[in-house]
Amino acid sequence: MSEEYVLNQPTSLTCPECGGALKKVDSDPIPRYVCHIGHELTGEAMLEAQAERIEWLLGGALAILNERRELCRQLMHDGMSDTAGLQRATQEATESAEALRALLNEHGGNPNPAP
Ligand SMILES: [Zn+2]
Repeated sequence: MSEEYVLNQPTSLTCPECGGALKKVDSDPIPRYVCHIGHELTGEAMLEAQAERIEWLLGGALAILNERRELCRQLMHDGMSDTAGLQRATQEATESAEALRALLNEHGGNPNPAP
């Protein structure tokens, strides 16, 4: 399949501080984004806040993948019968963790080193 993925245009932005809807205000000299409880950010501050949130979420995914590898190890140790399935799940989690770690490094994150 070679069709290009097209992202739907988001209908609104959310406040990185509280998650509320943001309204763009064409203030001078820089447009600002204001949420309904008063948080006010420039576009640059929004970009930075989004980058921090992406890094935080990717870090959380990395932690779950490491936990999955540990759970598989424990289940194999405890004699769970589907050893091939556990080994496959471990391998998949390891590969996904490596890809996420590379992505975090690429974006300046500081993921924990591999165990
Ligand atoms: Zn807010």
